[in-house]
Amino acid sequence: TEPFLGNPQNTIAVLQKYNFNFQKKFGQNFLIDTHVLDKIIRAAEITKEDFVLEIGPGIGTMTQYLAKYAREVVAVEIDRMLIPILEDTLSGFPNASVINEDILKVDIAKLAEERNGGRPIKVVANLPYYITTPIIMGLFESQVPLSSITVMVQKEVASRMQAGPGTKDYGALSLAVQFYADPYIVANVPPNCFMPRPNVGSAVIRLTRHDVMPVQVKDEKLMFRLIRASFNQRRKTLANGLFNSPELSFTKEEIAEAIEKLGRGSSIRGEALTLEEFARLSDLMGEGRK
Ligand code: SAM
Repeated sequence: TEPFLGNPQNTIAVLQKYNFNFQKKFGQNFLIDTHVLDKIIRAAEITKEDFVLEIGPGIGTMTQYLAKYAREVVAVEIDRMLIPILEDTLSGFPNASVINEDILKVDIAKLAEERNGGRPIKVVANLPYYITTPIIMGLFESQVPLSSITVMVQKEVASRMQAGPGTKDYGALSLAVQFYADPYIVANVPPNCFMPRPNVGSAVIRLTRHDVMPVQVKDEKLMFRLIRASFNQRRKTLANGLFNSPELSFTKEEIAEAIEKLGRGSSIRGEALTLEEFARLSDLMGEGRK
């Protein structure tokens, strides 16, 4: 079977057949634009070798496309009202299967082990926006073997993921994502490509996992605490941000010494620091603590 969802008429027909009610709390905005679907598939570089995890298949619109190009697709959907619909829309796609579960509760590493022999999987999704960050950070921080994540997210979130030092969108999310992956915004997607229309603009972003980590850091947890602390208080100096953080307990002197060793002036702000510098700062402060 060829993918038939993605055009508005067929989507409406399916929704009416099942008398489906959209659930706002699940972030349900279904894609109704075949060009966007093609773009996502192309950006994800899906081949017949690939095992793809889809998060939130909805009525199966993108799942059909993924099944056409991938070896196997597993889609995890929280809304049980969608399960009978998916059985119907995916009946012609035997390499696609659905798990009725909250993605945040799924053991994805185990899934990759069982279904893909532990080799890297690809994640593709039009994400429910209310849990974008926990989903993406969960994937990176867990032991899931991953080659890339290609996802639709809120436009502002995509900008933050891709932002570099000194820009207004640069922050803890930029650094967290860029520590693990190389971000690339594939396309901006306006609200009229979805049913119902979201209140925000959207963008497709591809996060390609680094083969080699871009920085070496002794204590990742400490580095991320430092990052959070320095962006908690924007427009303040890095030194103040670190000193005032409830997550950290360094003295003013320890902080000043580390910043000096970093080769930065005492008035430097956190938003000017690169990932590399946060890693060095973390190693410097970690030393001082012992
Ligand atoms: N992929 C479909 C499409 O593009 O038309 C639907 C995308 S819609 C933006 C997000 C989907 O994620 C919805 O089907 C929603 O029910 C599902 N969802 C929301 N929270 C979820 C969760 N915690 N775990 C799994 N799926 C979830």
